[in-house]
Amino acid sequence: MKIGVLALQGAVAEHVRMIEATGAESAIVKRTEQLESLDGIILPGGESTTIGKLMREYGFIEELRRFAESGKPVFGTCAGLILLANRIEGQDEAHLRLMDITVARNAFGRQRESFETDLHVKGIDETVRAVFIRAPLITQVGEGVEVLSIYRDQIVAARQGHLLAASFHPELTDDTRMHEYFAGMVRESKATTAAK
Ligand code: GLN
Repeated sequence: MKIGVLALQGAVAEHVRMIEATGAESAIVKRTEQLESLDGIILPGGESTTIGKLMREYGFIEELRRFAESGKPVFGTCAGLILLANRIEGQDEAHLRLMDITVARNAFGRQRESFETDLHVKGIDETVRAVFIRAPLITQVGEGVEVLSIYRDQIVAARQGHLLAASFHPELTDDTRMHEYFAGMVRESKATTAAK
């Protein structure tokens, strides 16, 4: 099983380390041709406007949409969550528009630019250590979206079928369980595709 990390900008190496901790093979993805060999991909944190611009430049918008539409799992963390969203508050255009969610960027305000906390995440036993850095929030979810985690009445993680999104950075702690959860989704999708 091979899981890639989109490496146009942002926190790539940390995700690679986490993928390998789950026992899966990892790949640093810089070209669209690499997508074919992957079973799943992580869109990392960073700066969503910059990553979005580079994605357009290198043809990743169409190719990642195709990738996701073929049923392969995608996990967006922080800026990656923004890239997955159908709607971004205050912006006319979104990026991949794969998940039926609305996001607000930098939603915690200046005074709380970054912080760490323990979160309950549906499907994971015991709390998960989460690092928030100029994090976005999910302000609205469509019918097919399952809310996985809430922090102070706000949605910070959600899943829509084979798409997973988190406001925080699960790769910046020693807690591998969010990555294990995603690796489970990838394993499941691979098994379903193989059975077809
Ligand atoms: N604030 C960033 C953005 O809007 C996301 C921050 C992050 O990925 N740590 O793109």
